[in-house]
Amino acid sequence: MAEPLCRPCKEQQQDVVAHRIVGKTPMCDAHFRSAMGMLPLGAGPGPVKKKTEERPMAKRIDGATRVAIRTDAAEGMNLNNIAKKHGVAWGTARDIVASADTKIPRVERGGKPAARRGRPPKSAFGKGGVELVTLTVTAELCDGIWATLPLEKKVALLNRLAEAN
Ligand SMILES: [Zn+2]
Repeated sequence: MAEPLCRPCKEQQQDVVAHRIVGKTPMCDAHFRSAMGMLPLGAGPGPVKKKTEERPMAKRIDGATRVAIRTDAAEGMNLNNIAKKHGVAWGTARDIVASADTKIPRVERGGKPAARRGRPPKSAFGKGGVELVTLTVTAELCDGIWATLPLEKKVALLNRLAEAN
């Protein structure tokens, strides 16, 4: 069976074996990548618009801010508030929290913990749970976070728990 030829190449009087079919158009790798808005393999910045994840808000965040962001996250502040408080993009706050040495459970809008797929909600704090604190976090995770908290943070967290109850 004859291999399909790249149609855009063919239009330029070139016979190039197509590796991909886009819609119904057979295309060589180069044309496929170009059609997808990707740079040709091995090429530097070219005329094709580079599709990168845009992070216009990205700016240098100093270490103290990172620590503060992680501390707030560990205390259950949601990312929207963290981002607002520290004047960073939501994604930046999320990345900083996600890249913490100690895993910090993510708190979504409204103080609810990020949903975990495929795992039933399980309270680490007994029946009924505490909304402010993540319901889906495992006991080990909590222990891990707890161990890294300075004393005053532990006190603050305990007070928060007491209030929630
Ligand atoms: Zn082509």
